[in-house]
Amino acid sequence: MEIDATRTNTATELLQTMIRNECVNDGTLESGEEERNSDLLETWLEGSGLDCQHFDSAPGRRSIVSRIEGSDPDAPSLCLMGHTDVVPVSPEGWSREPFSGELIDGEVWGRGAIDMLSQTAAMATAFRHLADTGFRPKGDLIFFGVADEEAGGTWGAKWMLDNNLDAVRADYVITEWGGVPIDTPTGTALSLNIAEKGVAWQKLVVKGTPGHGSMPYGTDNALVTAAEVVRRLADYRPTPNIHDLWRHQVANLNFSDDVKDAMLDPDRLDDALADLPDQMHARTLHACSHTTFSPNVVSGGSKTNTIPDEVIIELDIRTLPGETPEDVQEHLRIALGQKLYDAIDVTPIHLDMATRSPMDTPLWDVLSDIMQSAHPGAAIQPSLITGGTDARFYREAGSVAYGASLFSAGMRAEVFADRFHGNDERIDVESIGLTTELFVEAAKRMLT
Ligand SMILES: [Zn+2]
Repeated sequence: MEIDATRTNTATELLQTMIRNECVNDGTLESGEEERNSDLLETWLEGSGLDCQHFDSAPGRRSIVSRIEGSDPDAPSLCLMGHTDVVPVSPEGWSREPFSGELIDGEVWGRGAIDMLSQTAAMATAFRHLADTGFRPKGDLIFFGVADEEAGGTWGAKWMLDNNLDAVRADYVITEWGGVPIDTPTGTALSLNIAEKGVAWQKLVVKGTPGHGSMPYGTDNALVTAAEVVRRLADYRPTPNIHDLWRHQVANLNFSDDVKDAMLDPDRLDDALADLPDQMHARTLHACSHTTFSPNVVSGGSKTNTIPDEVIIELDIRTLPGETPEDVQEHLRIALGQKLYDAIDVTPIHLDMATRSPMDTPLWDVLSDIMQSAHPGAAIQPSLITGGTDARFYREAGSVAYGASLFSAGMRAEVFADRFHGNDERIDVESIGLTTELFVEAAKRMLT
């Protein structure tokens, strides 16, 4: 794949400015202030005569949309969606200033360089380049610079799809989290994200009978029951789910055939994971093949001398594609046993079920083909990610949404994982250039 020097420079400079805008989203409504990056992109796109619209979900929480209209209203549309916010930093862990956007030895440093301002800058650059060169697509091409991805999309993608669907609706969507080179036994594979796990947080209220701490014998102590609830959750071993994306993932692992066979056997997978020398890797692999349960918050009790009558446990459950809220309750019933399950009060506090797009689509073919032209011989691995992205809102609205970008050969999966939300986040200019060309080509092939 040929990288265009001018476009690469443009995307790089845009990225540097976006990093310097410090649109840090700490989860509070007042944070993010994506207005700065939104306005930057709007001014820049309007400079080439493109019409832009912006939308404020709350003060400062601005998203930008621009469109190159297609000639055929029935032709499929494509949206390039990049978020404009970043996660906070711990400056003491950085060897450079995290919001300077410095370009040093061919790398742009700063929070958002990888997640995902470099891709957002590449999308905007590809979009403007197409407009500048008189691109006349059949279906609409939409650029969507979206706020609030890093805190769950409430004031960004979710809000836009709920309130301004006509502005951003698209048949096909490209967003973050793909293209990372993975070392496999047969060479390099590139991830193309088509699915993500769901969130099914639950509040468990455990009741007891209050009493005096001086006479505990035979009492109904909510904390003692809660401890049993937590123990059973920690001991719960749900049946592994040997889904097709898991099979793709296992095929690309650098393990012996024996280990890989075990990983495809629901009766042997858990033992195989326990035996892996790299337990950090095992943790990821476990999450990709299991519904997970993590009791993370507990509150209850008031005085040292009082037997508590109520303890609340907050439980982080992550589901796999295909699982329903009812399946989640079934897991809990099995984990706790019918009697204990019936004795406590279970309420979902956040439900966002897992989403998945099909693989047999034109967008899959187009992206795979372009990605392989940048990394000849690379396999494309359809991937499930354990975290969440804005793609899920589009999938729920019926669009095909993938996470795709391109990285240079030097950016391996371990490096990517280390820098993602990590210290010394930075990206090489070659990756920025490759990603820009990916979006230019994808738009051309999908829409003409
Ligand atoms: Zn991101």
